[in-house]
Amino acid sequence: MAMLNKKRKEWKMRGRVFFALILAMCLSVAGYSLYEKEQNQHDEERIEDVYYSYDEHGPDAANVCERGMMQSPVQITRKDALQNQSPEIEIHYGEGRFEIIKKAHTAEAVSKSGQNYILIDHQQYKLESFHFHLPSEHQVEGQSYEMELHFVHENKNGEQAVMAVFIQEGQANEMVKEIWSRLQDGFSKKDNVSIRLPEFIPKERRAFYYTGSLTTPPCTEGVKWIVFEMPVEFSEEQIGTFHRLFGNNSRQVQPLNGRKIYQLTVR
Ligand SMILES: [Zn+2]
Repeated sequence: MAMLNKKRKEWKMRGRVFFALILAMCLSVAGYSLYEKEQNQHDEERIEDVYYSYDEHGPDAANVCERGMMQSPVQITRKDALQNQSPEIEIHYGEGRFEIIKKAHTAEAVSKSGQNYILIDHQQYKLESFHFHLPSEHQVEGQSYEMELHFVHENKNGEQAVMAVFIQEGQANEMVKEIWSRLQDGFSKKDNVSIRLPEFIPKERRAFYYTGSLTTPPCTEGVKWIVFEMPVEFSEEQIGTFHRLFGNNSRQVQPLNGRKIYQLTVR
């Protein structure tokens, strides 16, 4: 009898352990689907945001944005990047005056002084404006950065070149402080702000170069992209302020479709 009781207790114990195991499994499955759901919601948020503005630009833009073969942003893999010193790229940035515009999807600084430019194979591309994305649009080795800055340039034939700088969390950036302060309600747009552009450019001048498109409608192709390898820093608070004002505003990475990415040093 005592033997039987012991046996029963043992079975009871085993039953409890088994039940606990099943419960743990169910919980982790539920936990995973919750995580997956959150991830999907995050992706949908990104897509919806971009598609919303595609519609605003009519069927032509939708056509290029959805069916173009040279779209941006892209995924960059170091081992696939070709070492090259062509084209020759020079940055001629100093201080400039900018009008800060709070757009629906981002903060944009429009150049009012026009003396900042880059040279691509000795051809001048003037800096027109710059704006921000969160999280970064380009990815390196499958990783996104907290944010990405885009400097948009145009040459005399209307061809565009965009210089991208990744942003990671760290020290506060003085220039961002100036820009963010002008996004507050009640600020007069007429007061242009003076920005020292070199404070946005990494000291280490290694960059990736490829041909792509605008990442927002009309998604125009033939854009020369210069993507700096090293990031610059914004503080956690500065990144948080942008997120609060604009949310996520980055486009998903697009297929390379055989395009080459080069690795070079910018001067
Ligand atoms: Zn952009």
